[in-house]
Amino acid sequence: MIMNIEKLVRKNIRSLKPYSSARDEFTGNADIFLDANENPFPSPYNRYPDPLQRELKTAISNIKNISPAQLFLGNGSDEAIDLLIRAFCEPYADAILITPPTYGMYKVCADINAVKVQEAALTPDFQLDLEKILDSVDQTTKIIFLCSPNNPSGNLLDEADVIKIVSRFNGLVVLDEAYIDFSGVPGFTPLLDQYPNLVILQTLSKAWGLAGLRLGMCFAADEIITILNKIKYPYNINISTQTIVLSKLNNQNELKKNVAIILEERELLRNKLSDIHWVKEIFPSDANFLLVRVEDATTIYTQMLNSGIILRNRSNVALCENCLRITIGTPQENKLLIEKMKTIPL
Ligand SMILES: *Cc1c(COP(=O)(O)O)cnc(C)c1O
Repeated sequence: MIMNIEKLVRKNIRSLKPYSSARDEFTGNADIFLDANENPFPSPYNRYPDPLQRELKTAISNIKNISPAQLFLGNGSDEAIDLLIRAFCEPYADAILITPPTYGMYKVCADINAVKVQEAALTPDFQLDLEKILDSVDQTTKIIFLCSPNNPSGNLLDEADVIKIVSRFNGLVVLDEAYIDFSGVPGFTPLLDQYPNLVILQTLSKAWGLAGLRLGMCFAADEIITILNKIKYPYNINISTQTIVLSKLNNQNELKKNVAIILEERELLRNKLSDIHWVKEIFPSDANFLLVRVEDATTIYTQMLNSGIILRNRSNVALCENCLRITIGTPQENKLLIEKMKTIPL
């Protein structure tokens, strides 16, 4: 499919002349910086950060095997979700399509921006309903948001289904791969060059263990990345985040070790949970959490909370009646979780 990104983007964004910061306009070498009204007295933080995070992007590009021109970094992937909606969806006119049950931020960002939300629920086994999706899109649909592994169900979406949506939809498909490092599959980044309308989100908040630093990655055709760079806040990634992440990226062994423990614990927890009589169903998971259907989710949620353990009650979400979402903790935390659960009579 020939995708005309220029035509898809909002008119005012297409013609926008972006803010040009002092550091944007400067290239070359200098010893004395009197261009940005910074405080001259040295500290690790007296200078503005690199607005385009070049060093960090080069390092991430090498790990992900994707050109830096196809990478946008955001203050969490939530920033990328918001910017994509703002760049491509005209308020009070355009729409996004989501596939409930799914991550809540797509709808919240659309609502904030007065962008319509179309819904095509997943099937009961949490896969895409292709017919429903393709029937639901119309002229106003600019972005389809898919999440794989999906939050809150935990499963990977069928790859062939995702490809069908990407190749048939005449707009952007944003594939949120926040949990891809737990899934054991490479995900869609290796296919990026084949699909000019595919946008992939990943984050350092989950497997990488850096949620507090706020760094989200968005991979897409360089045309799309250029648009995001144009509308982002000039200095969206702060100096400490850029520096600390750079130093952590070298440590891929720690990432792999942590992921391996979490996956082992997940299956241990699955076994233990299945022995509890009020546990009805434990859904398959390719992520670092389990979706568990129980007899009375709200009672169990409250009782666990009273014991000092917070779970995520997803009972009110489509297809998740009486479901709790349980994040895999440390071995010690998981042991305590099961001990407390066993004391709930019900
Ligand atoms: C946790 C999560 C994110 C989080 O993104 P940040 O990078 O922390 O903003 C994004 N998408 C999904 C599906 C998530 O579950």
